[in-house]
Amino acid sequence: MNLIIHRGTNEIGGTCIELQSSSTRILLDFGMPLVTPKGDGFDMKIHAGKSTDELISQGVLPNVQGAYSDPLAIDGVIISHPHQDHFGLMQYLNKTIPIWLGKATHKLLEINNIFLSQQNHVNKTYFFEKSVPFTIGDFTITPYWNDHLAFDSYSFLLEAEGKRLFYSGDFRSHGRKSRAYRWFLSNKPSDIDYLLLEGTTIGRGSSKFQTEADIENELVELFKKSQSINYIYTSSQNLDRLVSIYRACVRSGKILVADIYTTYVLDMLSEFAGFPTPLKGYDSIQVLYPYWLTKRLFDNGHKDIAYLFTKHKISKDEINKNPSKYVLIVRPSMKTDLKMIDAENGNLVYSMWEGYKNQPQTKEFLDWLLDKNFTIHDIHTSGHADVDTLKEYVDAINPKAIIPIHTFNKSEYKNIFNQRVVELDDNMIFHV
Ligand SMILES: [Zn+2]
Ligand SMILES: [Zn+2]
Repeated sequence: MNLIIHRGTNEIGGTCIELQSSSTRILLDFGMPLVTPKGDGFDMKIHAGKSTDELISQGVLPNVQGAYSDPLAIDGVIISHPHQDHFGLMQYLNKTIPIWLGKATHKLLEINNIFLSQQNHVNKTYFFEKSVPFTIGDFTITPYWNDHLAFDSYSFLLEAEGKRLFYSGDFRSHGRKSRAYRWFLSNKPSDIDYLLLEGTTIGRGSSKFQTEADIENELVELFKKSQSINYIYTSSQNLDRLVSIYRACVRSGKILVADIYTTYVLDMLSEFAGFPTPLKGYDSIQVLYPYWLTKRLFDNGHKDIAYLFTKHKISKDEINKNPSKYVLIVRPSMKTDLKMIDAENGNLVYSMWEGYKNQPQTKEFLDWLLDKNFTIHDIHTSGHADVDTLKEYVDAINPKAIIPIHTFNKSEYKNIFNQRVVELDDNMIFHV
């Protein structure tokens, strides 16, 4: 069996792993980079309209033989979870290649196609389920459910030609699905030859992270004290965090005002877990219809989605009557709408990765709020395991060797783990 990490041996983001047996080729993840080779934030918009060949030569698309042109070159692509850095380039793949993913991940990709300017092809899809093995050619693959910021995240046991690999995907142990992590520790696979281990937090110090429950408590304290409006800037697809925010609103007597996109995500995924949606009787949530988002829905023929929540709509006038009653989920594109809310001296909870603060749009948005005398509070916890958790995880699996991936600090692995570490480079062919 051959392993080629097309991208990910020396960076976080843009993950793409290839496994080859004598007659099968599969890809694990097909992500968009988060950073450019120079280390700046990656922006796909500047590459709009470029051909596949141009994108390969500029290092945007991984150079995977046949993945773009030959319908038979790749036997299947497995998406570990619905984060852009793991699926964001799949729209460029040849449309006939089978895509394997979780059902909720598929739903989120469909939602992305509606609300974001992205066209993930989701036609030839196959769904896997946690702990149920499936096969692609020579490979038998068993998904394990992960605790991670993204809902529906998995790691995988991959078996072929007498070898056993384990790909950790992205995971943590301090989220709302920490039980999935605990379950894994007692049900982990054995006799692993190579563990491809994510190391997002390696090299960032080894402090313990706050749990998602700690985040909820911190929000409750803040909301209870606040005399003015509360805004919270978070990802609409960070389901763990949305649950923490909703619970904090209920506990502090606030109404959560979620925009139509966030509400639709919660509603569509409520089929898979008990997410709060106004359509299922959760009455501490009301729906805001931001101008640009609503216009996009109507322009693109999705007025049915816009009409889904009209009974639970809240107007800006309603919010203005008593701003301190509400917690609004916000993002920079909602500035037009927020200008119509007379809020001064409010709170803005920044609940995302610190690094995004350097993006021009975000910076401008935060500065605008600071000018309105808002106080910015950073309330966030990582989606990734801390170093102690990584050690516990590795000790439980006890692989013969570890291969670093999804890290900026692969050379640190050998100082942390007792097991043998095999440091690869992008595009290197490694014989397993
Ligand atoms: Zn992730
Ligand atoms: Zn990732």
